[in-house]
Amino acid sequence: MSYCQECGTQLIMKEHPTEGTVPFCPACGEYRWPGFNTAVSMVVLNHSKDRVLLIRQYGRPFYVLVAGYVNKGEDAEDAVAREIREEIGAEVSEIRFNHSRYFPPSNTLMLNFMAVLKDEELHTNGEVDDFKWFSFEDARKNIKPCSLAEAFLNGFFEKTYTWPEYKT
Ligand SMILES: [Zn+2]
Repeated sequence: MSYCQECGTQLIMKEHPTEGTVPFCPACGEYRWPGFNTAVSMVVLNHSKDRVLLIRQYGRPFYVLVAGYVNKGEDAEDAVAREIREEIGAEVSEIRFNHSRYFPPSNTLMLNFMAVLKDEELHTNGEVDDFKWFSFEDARKNIKPCSLAEAFLNGFFEKTYTWPEYKT
């Protein structure tokens, strides 16, 4: 059972002129599209764009991409710059959208970007255990296998994307 996020009235299902059956708040008279989370993940490159930065986090053994959730009211590009500032203490000189993929386990739309750093000096906060610059080849060998991060990283280099399977 879902409820209107604005007024708390129980939603009904209503036929939308073009989008099929959509949750609708009879009190507000508005369609209430099903909610999901939005996150960004980044292929972080050094200034000369020949190295990739991967991180390890939360005591886990594998390397992943720098990533984080987009705040309400925040643009995705701003979230990219903010997460990089927070997690590795670096400023970004270039941001380019790469690809997106919905991630069912956390009901999250992942937006992947390439982010180029102004310089390679990093200052991690407590959220990151370890970070390392890799050649492109070594980054692909060290990224967590069968992960969305691996699919984004390989796709970034190959321009074709092979997605891992997740139960919905
Ligand atoms: Zn309502």
